[in-house]
Amino acid sequence: MLNKNLKSWVDIKPDSDFSIHNIPFGIYSDAEVKHHACSAIGEYIIDLFVLESADLLDINRSVFEEEYLNSFIGLGKPVTNLIRKKLIDILCDQNSILKKDEHFFKKVFKKQSAVKMLMPVKVGDYTDFYSSIDHATNIGTMIRDPKNALMPNWKHLPVGYHGRASSICVSGHSFYRPKGQQKPADSDNPVFGPTKLLDIELETAFIIGKQTQMGDSVSTEKADDYIFGMVLFNDWSARDIQTWEYVPLGPFLAKNFASTISPWIVTLEALEPFRVKGYEQDPKLLPYLQYSGQKNLDINLEVFLKPQNGRENKICASNYKYMYYTMEQQLTHHTVNGCNINIGDMMASGTISGPQPSEYGSMMELTWRGTKPIKLNDGTERKFVNDNDTIIIRGHCNKDGVRIGFGECIGTVLPTK
Ligand code: MN
Repeated sequence: MLNKNLKSWVDIKPDSDFSIHNIPFGIYSDAEVKHHACSAIGEYIIDLFVLESADLLDINRSVFEEEYLNSFIGLGKPVTNLIRKKLIDILCDQNSILKKDEHFFKKVFKKQSAVKMLMPVKVGDYTDFYSSIDHATNIGTMIRDPKNALMPNWKHLPVGYHGRASSICVSGHSFYRPKGQQKPADSDNPVFGPTKLLDIELETAFIIGKQTQMGDSVSTEKADDYIFGMVLFNDWSARDIQTWEYVPLGPFLAKNFASTISPWIVTLEALEPFRVKGYEQDPKLLPYLQYSGQKNLDINLEVFLKPQNGRENKICASNYKYMYYTMEQQLTHHTVNGCNINIGDMMASGTISGPQPSEYGSMMELTWRGTKPIKLNDGTERKFVNDNDTIIIRGHCNKDGVRIGFGECIGTVLPTK
C-alpha cells in the first residue's frame, strides 16, 4: 500500500502536501489556458492535457480539456487509478522525457502560485451530514439539555440534510454576509438584517465517482467503489437565521448562501494508507450499516482566521478520525432507500469536532455560543466571523514520514450587499 521507496526527480519539500504519494486531480486556468485538468507535485501543477500531447498516459486527451473532471472521473476507477499510477511512474522515472526536455517540462509544469484553481467538478447534488459525536453533543448541550444532548436517532443512523450545490465555491472566493430573518430572544417578533452570528463548519466532503440507478443501494463493502476522493469543506452557517428557521424541517437559508471547498481532489487510493479504526459504535447498528475493517481516516485538520491585513490565527486543530460514522456508512445510508447518486455529487462530513475544546470545529463551539471569545494576535476578539475576515482550512495526513495533504480551503466574508 504505502511504498516509502517512491522517489520523484522533482524537488519536493518535506512539508509539501503534494508528495509523490498524493497525485490529486484538479482544474486550473491561467493567461493561456481556459481550463485544463491537472495534478500536483511539490510546488507545481502538472497540465495533463499538455502532458498527453506526448502520449504518455494512453488516453484520449480531450477529457483533460473539459471544464470539470466529471467525464474523467466517469471513466471509472480502473482508468483513473491507472492514470494516477502512470503519473507516479513518470515522476519517478529518472529517464523521463519531462526531466530531459526542458522545453517540454516548462509547458507541462507550472508553479501553483502562478495559476488559478477552478471548481474541480460540476456538483449535481450536495448532502451534508452531522456525524461527529463531539459536535452533535456540544450543539445538543448548548441548545437543549446536557443530559439528552443527542437525539434518540443519532446513534442509529447518520443524520443528514440535502443542501444546495449552486453556492459551493472553490477556495479563494469571497461572498457577501447573508441577510435574513432572526428572532431576538427578548422579542416575540422576528427582525430582518445581516446575520450577526456568521459561523464556520470544519468539514471534509467526498465526491461520488460512480453513478447508480433509482432503486439501487450501495452496501458498506462496495461503498469505496463509488467514492472518487475527498476535499476540505467549509459549511458557512448563519446561526441566528438557523435557530429561527430550522424547525421543523432543518437547515435552509442559514446554510445555502455559500460553502467553500479546496480545489484538489485527493483520491481515496492516496488516502488508503492513512486508514484507522473507527469509533466503537454502541448500540449496535442495523445490519445494513455495519461494516468491517479499518474505515476511518487519520487526517489532521486545522482552521485559521485571518483578519483583513492581519496575520493568521490558528483557532482549531481537529482530526477526521473523530467521526462517529464513516463515509462508507454515510453513502450506504444515503442510498438505502433507493436514492440514486451521480458523478460529481458531494457529500460533506458534518462539522468535525474532537473531544478537546481546542478541537471544536465551529465558532459556536469554540466560543461556546459567544460566551468565551477567542483572542486574536492583533488584540481583537471574535465571537463569530467579522466582515473581511478570511477563514483558511488546511488538512494533511502523516504516517511514517510520508505526508499527503489537501492544500487550502479559503473563503472571505464581505460586508452585506
Ligand atoms: Mn455542516
